[in-house]
Amino acid sequence: MTSVADALASVRERIARAAQAAGRAPEEICLVAVSKLKSAELVREAYLAGQRDFGENYVQELVEKAEALADLQELRWHLVGHLQRNKVKSALRAASVVHSVDTPRLARELGKRVAERYGEPPEGGSVPQLSVLVEVNIASEPQKGGVTPNELGPLLETIEQEPALRLRGLMAVPPQTEDPGDSRQFFDELVRLRERHGGALRLPELSMGMTHDLEHAIEAGATIVRVGTAIFGKRD
Ligand SMILES: *Cc1c(COP(=O)(O)O)cnc(C)c1O
Repeated sequence: MTSVADALASVRERIARAAQAAGRAPEEICLVAVSKLKSAELVREAYLAGQRDFGENYVQELVEKAEALADLQELRWHLVGHLQRNKVKSALRAASVVHSVDTPRLARELGKRVAERYGEPPEGGSVPQLSVLVEVNIASEPQKGGVTPNELGPLLETIEQEPALRLRGLMAVPPQTEDPGDSRQFFDELVRLRERHGGALRLPELSMGMTHDLEHAIEAGATIVRVGTAIFGKRD
């Protein structure tokens, strides 16, 4: 079996090669190591190999792992799975970035709870903010979370009205297919949506690309790739 450190190195190599092929700097692309259903010990191994950004799908698992790894001071947790409003308070105990905001009600709840958590800003100080991305249901799949492209505009405005939220960009999970190249049209669609809604100035981050299609995502313009299997192995 390859170690987590070796697997991480080869994922970083894939990212660097894809960036180079697209004429981009590899540093433009943030790797989020998705550790769902994998142990805290594997996360620690990845951290010791230099990885700092980790992603989880389930709030309970996120909070448990964050507690077990509280000594890793530079670790940043990204919540990449669907977030229910009644889990917001728990999620905020650990998450630095939420990739999956998909309704105005969830955005308002997040804004309220972040503000509660940090209280009033000091005089002249700025409000501590939670970084958020909006998940778009890019292929309009009924079973999936994410805002429909039609509802994206109002949701972005709602987020911008929350002083405790920092709007960072868009996220999408294209349909599962055999051929990774099939994802490309959906990545391009996310790029077009961004252009239609203020471009990179308003939405600097595009969170797209996973183990099987990260090269296509980087070619299309991803700034964040979320990779699980290629780092931690298959999930049961
Ligand atoms: C599981 C998951 C990933 C990682 O997928 P892999 O195919 O294992 O790389 C990325 N993003 C989201 C939203 C996920 O649920």
